[in-house]
Amino acid sequence: MSESEFILKVEDIRKSFGSSEVLKGVSFNVKKGETICFIGPSGTGKSTLLRCINQLTIPDSGKVLLNGEEVTHSGSQINHFRQKIGMVFQNFFLFDHLTAVRNVEIALLKVKGMNAKDARAKAMKELQQVGMAEWADHFPAELSGGQAQRVSIARALAMDPDVMLFDEPTSALDPELTREVLEVMKKLALDGMTMLVVTHEMGFACSVANQILFMEHGVIKEQGSPQVLLNDPKFERCKAFIGQFR
Ligand code: ADP
Ligand code: MG
Repeated sequence: MSESEFILKVEDIRKSFGSSEVLKGVSFNVKKGETICFIGPSGTGKSTLLRCINQLTIPDSGKVLLNGEEVTHSGSQINHFRQKIGMVFQNFFLFDHLTAVRNVEIALLKVKGMNAKDARAKAMKELQQVGMAEWADHFPAELSGGQAQRVSIARALAMDPDVMLFDEPTSALDPELTREVLEVMKKLALDGMTMLVVTHEMGFACSVANQILFMEHGVIKEQGSPQVLLNDPKFERCKAFIGQFR
């Protein structure tokens, strides 16, 4: 495969906090349209890895390339890359004093410099995409956790990202609300969005992921398609981990 077929390349990322080395050289490549799920015990560096990809955390060494352009060490260009790499967090991070549609359009107005009419139209289109158009004028406090998470997905999508990062997007939600968020994510994956998803939802990982990356102690321990990881006895540790959730 030629280098250019990878939309995202992560090369030997290392990160320590004090004396604790949290990422010990993590590398992987992502093709356009792929969904990659990261699984593994807590405290193994999954969130740190996602944060290093869009430079919310600065890695000590290693490279991140988006469409062949270096995201790491990109200086003043970093805001450009942050728009291209959307991120969705466990706890939504919506602005409480803004309605759903205002939450989605604010960056279009302030960051992209769009005019009010175009920003509103774009924000409504993204809310539609996640099934939240009818809730456009509601404040976050009036939404369920699943609805709030769908608004935060719409907000990230509004920037027309090349890649979406999801850090345990359903971990704060009840099972039925989890389902509505996973449905939206599944639809995005089927529509061809490139996605990196940290999750404990093994059903989602096994049915949607092109690859599952099993992380432990700051390294990728095992990696492969869901079929291979679940059926090849070589991947015993990963299977044992997945087994806890079934
Ligand atoms: P995971 O997402 O797999 O649960 P994290 O990436 O959140 O793991 O954390 C990995 C380790 O790094 C944990 O021990 C955590 O306490 C530590 N860590 C994460 N962020 C920081 C930080 N900003 N300062 C110090 N330690 C951190
Ligand atoms: Mg985490």
